[in-house]
Amino acid sequence: MIDLVYILCPGHSGSTVLGMLLGAHPQLATVGELKVVPWSFRNDESCSCGVAMSQCAFWSDVAKKLDASGMDLISDQFRTHIDNRDTMTARLVAGQVGEHLEETARSAVLQLWPPARKYLKDTLACNIALMQTIMELTGRNVFLDTSKDASRLRYLAKSHRFKISVVHLIRDGRAVAYSLIRKGVDPRTAAKEWLAEHEQAERLRAMNLSDTRWVQVHYEKLCADADGVLASLCDFIGVRAEDRTLDFRSWDSHVLGNRLRLSSGKEISLDERWRRELTEEPLAIVEEITRSTNQRYGYA
Ligand SMILES: [Zn+2]
Repeated sequence: MIDLVYILCPGHSGSTVLGMLLGAHPQLATVGELKVVPWSFRNDESCSCGVAMSQCAFWSDVAKKLDASGMDLISDQFRTHIDNRDTMTARLVAGQVGEHLEETARSAVLQLWPPARKYLKDTLACNIALMQTIMELTGRNVFLDTSKDASRLRYLAKSHRFKISVVHLIRDGRAVAYSLIRKGVDPRTAAKEWLAEHEQAERLRAMNLSDTRWVQVHYEKLCADADGVLASLCDFIGVRAEDRTLDFRSWDSHVLGNRLRLSSGKEISLDERWRRELTEEPLAIVEEITRSTNQRYGYA
């Protein structure tokens, strides 16, 4: 069983910062969002070390090591992510986490449909091979995946191939919605997206999946007291808390995913622009949708 730490949250909740902070720990192996690795490799995306993946020694070692075990990172058969918009099979395996009845039906259909089982099995094999390769190359014994998705966590957890520590990362729904609004998303869609991700996370937690432990972390608390939050996360994960560092740029990182990986800032600062910049009307729409869950998470 692979020791896996999984950061679960809506986008724009601070998962990249938390992943970079945790990745500085000498026992934690991470490349950020594992789900985007094959796609990034094929598109020659920029690695956080400063060069394109095709020029990065770490990624070329990963590709070579996989090749030696008969797996080809550049081939579109190598898949660590299931896009649930792709096909019926993909929708079945990686559709949004639903209510109890829907999930029971999903499991039943999966059992009865060999092509879906094979699709899932192949995806899991690629994930496992990639994690093992990265852990071997870095000499670290716990894998950290900042992929965020609840549906991905569901199929990883149900495979019983991992001992999973889930870090459910929470940030004020108004701040998250504002990040999306700034990118051109309308306020209603932005707020609903935040809500839908947390609803899925809570449904997943309620399933009481075996080999899975949970903790909630508030992004605002991480920004205010990174040292304290990291110490308790290390305890939760089961790695030495004294080895944590707050310098998240201090390690030789080869991280993919969010653009932040490419910036050079060393400060972890809380972006509260929504308080000043979100005008009355969109704020009212966002608050109406996020209020009850936001309050439950402790936001006034
Ligand atoms: Zn690199």
